[in-house]
Amino acid sequence: MNKMKELIIGSHVNMSSPKMLLGSVEQALSYDANTFMFYTGAPQNTKRKPISELRVEEAIELMKKKNINIDHLVVHAPYIINLANTTADYVFDLAKDFLRQEIERTAKIGAKLLVLHPGSHVGAGEEIGLARIIEGLNEVLDKDDHDVTILLETMSGKGSELGYTFEQLRYIIDNVTKKERLGVCLDTCHIFDAGYDIVKDLDRVIAQFDEVVGLDLLKVVHVNDSKNTLGSSKDRHANIGEGYIGLGTLKKVVHHPLLQDKIFILETPWIDDKPPYKEEIKLLREG
Ligand code: FE
Ligand code: FE
Ligand code: ZN
Repeated sequence: MNKMKELIIGSHVNMSSPKMLLGSVEQALSYDANTFMFYTGAPQNTKRKPISELRVEEAIELMKKKNINIDHLVVHAPYIINLANTTADYVFDLAKDFLRQEIERTAKIGAKLLVLHPGSHVGAGEEIGLARIIEGLNEVLDKDDHDVTILLETMSGKGSELGYTFEQLRYIIDNVTKKERLGVCLDTCHIFDAGYDIVKDLDRVIAQFDEVVGLDLLKVVHVNDSKNTLGSSKDRHANIGEGYIGLGTLKKVVHHPLLQDKIFILETPWIDDKPPYKEEIKLLREG
């Protein structure tokens, strides 16, 4: 009965020519990962290749052979999507438009999880920004019926970012009509930088998340150390064990009994132009 479930863990990988998604799967396998996260194109722009050029079938075939469950793949929406913008209509329109397309791309690839930064109010104020995010999500989701869950990411509160408290995420979810299409992605670096002290009392933070948002809505955990101290609102990821969160706490996160069905994704920085993921995943797997 107490058979431990296998950890679902991977990292951010890139998707580039000529191998595209097939290359992403190969990277994940080279890290001994059983899942991965990727952008459908450059995170900072809206240029995207047609799905037909992404080598999806070959990627799926390799995943099947290697026991990577496609339901565990995570797509990250580009940061240029800012649904909280109220100062320039074209930014808001572009955000909705791009989100619509990104949901469709995610569905066409066959993935089910799309991580989204809620948005930045760029000076308009938090309440106005949150209202705009809700408006945007409603406009997009009301006319969409793809089998894709949008995971709102917990943010650090850098600049005018929204979604740096569990209550803000709850507020967004409460006001979106198709709330069944929403979930949450919790980023350890971001919540630590936002002031949630997972080092001192991880259980309390998890209980708080459960109370406010609900652990059932948590699908993905971004496992990152932080280059800054608690509450710094900085959002600079450190390698596992090299930051202010530390290896002990990050191990507790991935092995936490309440988080056993979650998907863990590392977004730590490369070291000397090399990905650290194989070693970091191994480190975290060891209980
Ligand atoms: Fe993110
Ligand atoms: Fe993240
Ligand atoms: Zn970050």
